[in-house]
Amino acid sequence: MTPRGGRGPRLRGLLACAALALLLAAPAAAQPFSGLARLDVAESHVRDARRGGLEVELALSQPVPWRVFTLDAPRRLVLDFAEVDWAGADPAALLSGERAAGLRLGQGRPGWSRLVLDLAGPMLVETAEMRAGDGTSGAVLRLRLVPTDAESFAAAAKPADPAGATLDAPLPEAPGPLVVAIDPGHGGVDPGAMREGLVEADLMLALARETAEAIDRSGTMRAVLTRDADAFVSLAQRMTIARAAGADLLISLHADALEVDEASGGAVYTLSDEALDRASARMAERHQRGDLLAGVDLSGQDDRVATALMDLARLDTVPQSERLAGALIEGLRQAGAKLNGTPHRAAPLAVLNAADFPSVLVEVGFLSNAGDRIRLTEPTGRAAIVSGLVAGLQAWAAEEAARAPLRRR
Ligand SMILES: [Zn+2]
Repeated sequence: MTPRGGRGPRLRGLLACAALALLLAAPAAAQPFSGLARLDVAESHVRDARRGGLEVELALSQPVPWRVFTLDAPRRLVLDFAEVDWAGADPAALLSGERAAGLRLGQGRPGWSRLVLDLAGPMLVETAEMRAGDGTSGAVLRLRLVPTDAESFAAAAKPADPAGATLDAPLPEAPGPLVVAIDPGHGGVDPGAMREGLVEADLMLALARETAEAIDRSGTMRAVLTRDADAFVSLAQRMTIARAAGADLLISLHADALEVDEASGGAVYTLSDEALDRASARMAERHQRGDLLAGVDLSGQDDRVATALMDLARLDTVPQSERLAGALIEGLRQAGAKLNGTPHRAAPLAVLNAADFPSVLVEVGFLSNAGDRIRLTEPTGRAAIVSGLVAGLQAWAAEEAARAPLRRR
């Protein structure tokens, strides 16, 4: 989600600044794939807080992209969501105390929902945060407002818009599509795993093309392929191609084969310094081979400064990749794709080395397993993988956008 060089602003404690209201005007990414979020009125409230403040807490059935800003004359707080179904929510039931004089709920432009709160006095947003529920699919948005003077309020407020900024005021432009780099493993001199006449490089290219098509059809995402022919592309080149295409993330597609038929089903790998188990270690070993075959020198080391910078960037991309892996596994599971008993694995895989965008390697199955060979060659088996990946991507994009509104290119 996070474009390089444009890390999302962290919200907590920063919101009293006027400029931030504008930064927030870019809720990122796609519609949640599981439908609209719903408001749980019983778990939500707007009420007076200590020291003249105001507290807003909204419990949603799932995280969604959102933004917040204030408007002057009359003084209002506006929350936009993409998207919440307000059906059955009684605004009066949410409201108590004296510092919020009124509350209205409505739909804006298609895909957007708006909540408008009339403020009894000048107040600034002190903290604003949406958190995904722990162990539940829900999310909670919490805002704290603190009293201020009329001048500071006016300075922090967004300029009034021509429509009077009521429920049907113009809503933000949708951000550009999420750019997904799909990386079909191997190719050219490096065929990857081979079994029973099947070649990993060919199978993955076909699967990558099908996945890219489905991503493009989603309307909210756009796919780029790191190779679109049976050609050798080094692991470093694959990342360069993704980066040049403005990729927000990378998914590398592989299908493994073992000496003995002892494993089946898909798994999603994220980057780690060390392989956490023997299977992951063997996987990492096999996947350095491609570059060695083509004579690429793997001995080059980053200098210390570059490494330190990469580590900093990874503070963002590593947890994003972990969440991406989780969302893809869930998407694949729900789409009926076969998963390995240990579906989330970690290994030091060079293709996951990019520090500036999240990346995962999806091992879609094992060519050494007869069931997997059928699933990977028959249309229904492949369709489950493709739709699982797309659903997982959409769920992840919605979750990332809700976590903190990120600034997109
Ligand atoms: Zn492979």
